[in-house]
Amino acid sequence: MSRIAYVNGRYVPHGQAKVAVEDRGYQFADGVYEVCEVRGGRMIDESRHMARLDRSLKELRIARPMSPRALAVVLRETIRRNRVRDGIIYLQVTRGVAKRDFPFPAENTRPSLVVTARSNDLDRLEQVAAEGVSVVTVPDIRWKRVDIKSVALLPNVLAKQTAREQGAREAWLVDAKGRITEGSSSSAWIVSRDGKLITHPLGEDILPGITRSVVIDMIKAQGLPFEERIFTVEEAFQAREAFITSASQVVLPVVRIDGHSVGNGAPGLITTALRRDYHRYAEIAV
Ligand code: PMP
Repeated sequence: MSRIAYVNGRYVPHGQAKVAVEDRGYQFADGVYEVCEVRGGRMIDESRHMARLDRSLKELRIARPMSPRALAVVLRETIRRNRVRDGIIYLQVTRGVAKRDFPFPAENTRPSLVVTARSNDLDRLEQVAAEGVSVVTVPDIRWKRVDIKSVALLPNVLAKQTAREQGAREAWLVDAKGRITEGSSSSAWIVSRDGKLITHPLGEDILPGITRSVVIDMIKAQGLPFEERIFTVEEAFQAREAFITSASQVVLPVVRIDGHSVGNGAPGLITTALRRDYHRYAEIAV
């Protein structure tokens, strides 16, 4: 089935979808993005993703490409035209097209909007989750505002490639003090020996993951012990369980960190329950 992309007001065949060479996203990575899970043809956690999009745009002083209501229509239409039942929807907003020059372009420059959607193989993902995944640690060499979901992802690309070359699915980024900030495209979690769920606190040094925020709601609703605090690589090696969260993977058990088995080397009970129950707590769009 042919894929369709939304590009600046038009739905076009994916292979023919194009942006201008002087789009500031292309020239300067001057743009932001969102990825939302689609399940049963419906967006998951749409409100939180749209709120984060607004925040990213505001932080970078990029105008909204259209009203939230119009954007909601475009997202649904892109899912529909691509016949996505289970997969993801991707949207990117850049500061628009202008002669290549570093300062912001003229006020009347229109932001660019691209939306794509893609199906995922749910069975394959479930198989990966049932086995658990490996992660490797790499230095966190990103800029100091990674709370903004910018398309400038070169350090993340390099980290992920290192992981793949070492047979791991994800890279956990480590700051100068040996503390894990987050994954290259996911939030990082551990369950300590005494059963506390631990993840890095929000700040300018991690992306405020939407899946992370829903998992925190679940943990609180279930009265599980929770600590939003910094943890080290050493602590992660000693953890009883570990997992990553992201819109595209939901909750994914980590069973190896830098070759060390986590717990007994199989997905943990708490992790497995969080994955199983996630969509009971998530927002499911109409
Ligand atoms: N951290 C980073 C660096 C990411 O790229 C992502 C995925 N976009 C996440 C965390 C997870 O965020 P979310 O749960 O909103 O997908």
